[in-house]
Amino acid sequence: MAKIAVLERKCTGCSLCVKNCPFSAIDMKDGRPELNAACKVCGICVKTCPEQAIVKLETRVESVDKSKWRDILVFAEVSAGRLHPVGLELIGKARELAEPLDFKVKAVLVGENLKPCAEELRHFGVSEIAVYDDPALSYFRADVYASCVEDYIRFARPSVVLVGATSLGRSLAPRLSTRFHTGLTADCTKLELRENSDLVQIRPAFGGNIMAQIVTENTRPQFATVRYKVMNPPVRSEKAEGNVLFRSLPKAVLESRTSCVSSTPLPPKKSISDAEILVVGGRGLQKEADLSMIRELAALLGGDWATTRPLVEKGWSTNDRQIGLSGRTVRPRLIITCGVSGAIQFTSCMNASDHIVAINTDRSAPIFSVAHIAIVDDLYRVVPELIRMLKEEQA
Ligand SMILES: Cc1cc2nc3c(=O)[nH]c(=O)nc-3n(C[C@H](O)[C@H](O)[C@H](O)COP(=O)(O)OP(=O)(O)OC[C@H]3O[C@@H](n4cnc5c(N)ncnc54)[C@H](O)[C@@H]3O)c2cc1C
Repeated sequence: MAKIAVLERKCTGCSLCVKNCPFSAIDMKDGRPELNAACKVCGICVKTCPEQAIVKLETRVESVDKSKWRDILVFAEVSAGRLHPVGLELIGKARELAEPLDFKVKAVLVGENLKPCAEELRHFGVSEIAVYDDPALSYFRADVYASCVEDYIRFARPSVVLVGATSLGRSLAPRLSTRFHTGLTADCTKLELRENSDLVQIRPAFGGNIMAQIVTENTRPQFATVRYKVMNPPVRSEKAEGNVLFRSLPKAVLESRTSCVSSTPLPPKKSISDAEILVVGGRGLQKEADLSMIRELAALLGGDWATTRPLVEKGWSTNDRQIGLSGRTVRPRLIITCGVSGAIQFTSCMNASDHIVAINTDRSAPIFSVAHIAIVDDLYRVVPELIRMLKEEQA
């Protein structure tokens, strides 16, 4: 990190720096130059000041001793008394990452009555399960949950901490990374671990136009959140292993400034993320009523239906049926896209599906680069034909 400073005793107030700055980042105030937020620290003012009254100050970056931070910790979220599947998916990925560096995979559980969840986790290849089990933790309050996970991180010193990008995880992870003054990358779609234990956190950026590789080089731990259904869950082993470590914190630490007055559980709702078969309508559909054939095909296949974002923007569908960066990530056994072009914001959240069938009239549509079966044809011909064939078969 560097910054620009003006040496007042040398400055004559000639204002040449104001004229030379390509970013209009210098204003004259009371006859002296003052830098504003547009400064990019390019250094042109430093080079062109005739009095050498402007200097560039370099700040030394302290680097952490990486050898003192080992292993991978997964925050295993508990939802309605059960392990959220995203925690298991993260354990699967953590095991893959940990192996070449001989790291261990650990998990942390926070909540109430967690013994069954801790027992279940022992079947997924984690070496230690830290448990914070207390009636004061019966529902999520970000400050006290963060205090529990912080306590275990300070004790175990993991190099990497993985958190599911659920509503709970999205609230918890930033609080934790702030407490450790370290980096957090949200919604990673790919993770790699370098030999020096730097985690390469890969995710779409700039509206999905690039895949950014983000690295936390100078601090530890490295925090990353990953959405549900992005990583593969590990196979459950019959053998239970791993040490269960019950930890507790003083009562005062478990007191939150937030209290829950009442809570009403929402009726369980089916999510497109849980569907095994999905039929997706895109902007190739000419009118809202045509979505009925997408729904009909989905019903005949025993699946669910979804759409791209433009259809949500038109009001034809709702956000909970939208696949993509600003919608849901899906990973069904079969997905059939109808009139979908295959923008990266869409494909990055469905390209891990087992079988992808794409119907599009444009043979150069990007969706065909992720499809296993490409049907270059009019969806108004193909979808009714599929419906007819399925009905015939069922009859
Ligand atoms: C920050 C950001 C986030 C975004 N998030 C999302 C997101 O979460 N989800 C999402 O979907 N998009 C998202 N987008 C928008 C995305 O970039 C695309 O614009 C969008 O996915 C395109 O939707 P589409 O494929 O339905 O439409 P189009 O790109 O218009 O494609 C329609 C396709 O239908 C084909 N077609 C037309 N008629 C027929 C026919 N009769 N039969 C067969 N094929 C036909 C055409 O050849 C075309 O390929 C996001 C964009 C940004 C910038």
